[in-house]
Amino acid sequence: MKRKISIIGSTGSIGTQALEVIEKLQDKFEIIALAGGHNKELLAKQAEKFKPKYTCLGEEGLEKICSDKENDIILVACSGKIGLKPTFTAIRNGIDIALANKETLVMAGDIVMAEAKKYGVQIIPVDSEHCAIHQCIKDINQVEKLIITASGGPFLKKSIEDMKNATVEQALAHPRWNMGKKITVDSATLMNKGLEIIEAHHLFGFDYDKIDVVIHPQSIVHSAIEYKDGSVIAQIGLPSMHIPIQYAITYPERFEGIKSKSFSFSEIARLDFEKPDFEKFPTLKLAYDMGKLGGTATVCLNAANEEAVFAFLDGKIKLYDIYKITKKMCDEHKVIQNPTIDEIFAVDKEVRQLTKCLVGQHQ
Ligand code: MG
Repeated sequence: MKRKISIIGSTGSIGTQALEVIEKLQDKFEIIALAGGHNKELLAKQAEKFKPKYTCLGEEGLEKICSDKENDIILVACSGKIGLKPTFTAIRNGIDIALANKETLVMAGDIVMAEAKKYGVQIIPVDSEHCAIHQCIKDINQVEKLIITASGGPFLKKSIEDMKNATVEQALAHPRWNMGKKITVDSATLMNKGLEIIEAHHLFGFDYDKIDVVIHPQSIVHSAIEYKDGSVIAQIGLPSMHIPIQYAITYPERFEGIKSKSFSFSEIARLDFEKPDFEKFPTLKLAYDMGKLGGTATVCLNAANEEAVFAFLDGKIKLYDIYKITKKMCDEHKVIQNPTIDEIFAVDKEVRQLTKCLVGQHQ
């Protein structure tokens, strides 16, 4: 039997790689719907090739896709908050989720996980770190802590001064992963890792002091868990997003799929690990602090950071201003505990407006 799948964000980085996986596993999947953001031409090409039941461009139509119970699984691979509402709809229709969208858990992790539990829906993470942890966990009650790896981004070996004067091109030159621009800047500041600890907290239900981050420049160990008896289980593999994408959409089965070559320890030869430098990457501490505050604190963190990153990409502010602006917004934010979805969207909107004002003052 073919697994019926829809992809939200089929024209993006994760979406296009997911279609490469599906092309290899043609006899395993039937595509119900493809939804793209802006790229009309690419979506049309994808539709011609994969013949989905329907396609949609932009936000309209996502609700229809996510309430179509014919879907066995929906890959939520769009970026930004537009992923949130369709994910809810899919959960309420009992459809499993392969989750690549960060905002869903960072903004509304408590509600999303509670709804998933209520409707018996599985949320399989696509992000390489969470996918790694998902693969390592056998019995979650016996796990002591989660260890999330971070490549360290392009500024790992650079000084704080170099980082302060970094250009957009330098920030976008990620040494290991080929991703969208927003997430690549987040990887340079380690905010991406900050958002990932918040996601991990929600996905696996661990307190923040049981979630460690370790810098691992080779990006071979994708993350690990430590059991109560001291045993550490890590998931290891070449840094290719095809692997976690395929894992998430074929779970619990595994297929050869797009695997290009067999893993060789001797070719890798060495693996390095070091503590993250919280002084050089203060965003990581900010993310821990906001995560611990809970409620809308992480909504504020996410919205302020995203607007600041856009301003950096537009050449309006410097790289370090992203942190300064985000920190200021977080300091001033009055946290709402147990927010409703409407409150979450209201906070998101307000913080974005205020952040844009603050960016204006920085120029
Ligand atoms: Mg990641």
